[in-house]
Amino acid sequence: MLMAIRLQGMTQEEAVNLTQEMKTSGVVLEWPKEWSSIIVDKHSTGGVGDKVSLVLVPALAACGCKVPMISGRGLGHTGGTLDKLESIPGFNINKSPEEVKQILATVGCCIVGQTPDLVPADKKLYTIRDITSTVDSLPLIAGSILSKKGAESLAALILDVKFGEGALYKDINGARELAQYLVYVGNRLGIQTAAVLSKMDNPIGRCIGNSLEVIESIECLKGKGPKDLEELVTCLGGHLLHMCEKAGSFKAGEEDIKDMLQNGCALGKFQAMLVAQGVTADLAKALCRGEEVLRHTVKQEELKAAAGGVVQAIHSLPLAKVLHELGAGCTQSDQPVNWSVGIELLKTVGDHVNKGDPWIRIHFEDPSLSESQKALLQHSLVIGEKVETGPLVTEIIQVQSQGEKRHNCPA
Ligand code: URA
Repeated sequence: MLMAIRLQGMTQEEAVNLTQEMKTSGVVLEWPKEWSSIIVDKHSTGGVGDKVSLVLVPALAACGCKVPMISGRGLGHTGGTLDKLESIPGFNINKSPEEVKQILATVGCCIVGQTPDLVPADKKLYTIRDITSTVDSLPLIAGSILSKKGAESLAALILDVKFGEGALYKDINGARELAQYLVYVGNRLGIQTAAVLSKMDNPIGRCIGNSLEVIESIECLKGKGPKDLEELVTCLGGHLLHMCEKAGSFKAGEEDIKDMLQNGCALGKFQAMLVAQGVTADLAKALCRGEEVLRHTVKQEELKAAAGGVVQAIHSLPLAKVLHELGAGCTQSDQPVNWSVGIELLKTVGDHVNKGDPWIRIHFEDPSLSESQKALLQHSLVIGEKVETGPLVTEIIQVQSQGEKRHNCPA
């Protein structure tokens, strides 16, 4: 069946039916009636250094939304939100539907893992998609992502579909096709769904690696995060607040999110979420205060720029590959992760750099950093005379009919 879907594509009606059946293959979460318009979530196609959820989820809760985010682990080159949170001692991703409801009632948000009784059809299909080479089928991607979001019984969903050198889709057209498809199927499932297309040519923020990304997220929750991360958080949050009518316009929604980062409310929600999910109150407080409570690697090494000029790009895939080899991520889901392994970018796109300036700090221990890995990292830094940077988000996709075309794989 999967190969037939992959080869023949599906009409939009068939894709909606498939997603609906997958959604109801297990438990569908239920919420108090008064939450029906404020239950929201986001999904991202993933990117190197993408820690948006850690900031966006509590910021939305601070704005009065309820966010029951069910997230995944990192496999391959992108780090998973759950791995990042698990680098905080005590953080528990396993919560029953009743516990999730309780946390939403008291805190307003949580980030948990998928339970076996939530969309069991996806787990089975995903395994078979892998061995039948049908992973890239549009209706199957939509079914997989949206059945899980559907089982969260959401009012509104924002999708961050990335394109560029560090993304699944190198070219904007493939990303747009996926975004339009997801937006259509999501809306047909009864979830107000929109998507943004965002550029992923460089890592997001200055930190990559689980515990370093937690620390950078906390900086962003204090309104002191890197510009690109804050741009994504405010843009995605602004759209969601507008969609669920918590804000009168997208711009007003963006301002509300910014306010929550500046006034400490988003950070307060993050701290409360940590405690609700198993972190001791003292540790959560110390972490949010900026105290060094997360473990550091024994070894750190800086590399120096081979030339002077302006940083034009930092290729993210080589960085992710080296980090993966150093133990920051896993290839199989049962492989252990070293949460402290990571990279800090001391220079980022647009910065001036002199020859010999340190531009990257690698945190590692066992295995050690090899000469070939250092060479790969050095090649990821592109220095030139000047660089023009624009906004990360280039397009917003709202609902539109897909016509009767049979969709199979993105361009
Ligand atoms: N995420 C999912 O959960 N499923 C896919 O098919 C792709 C991304």
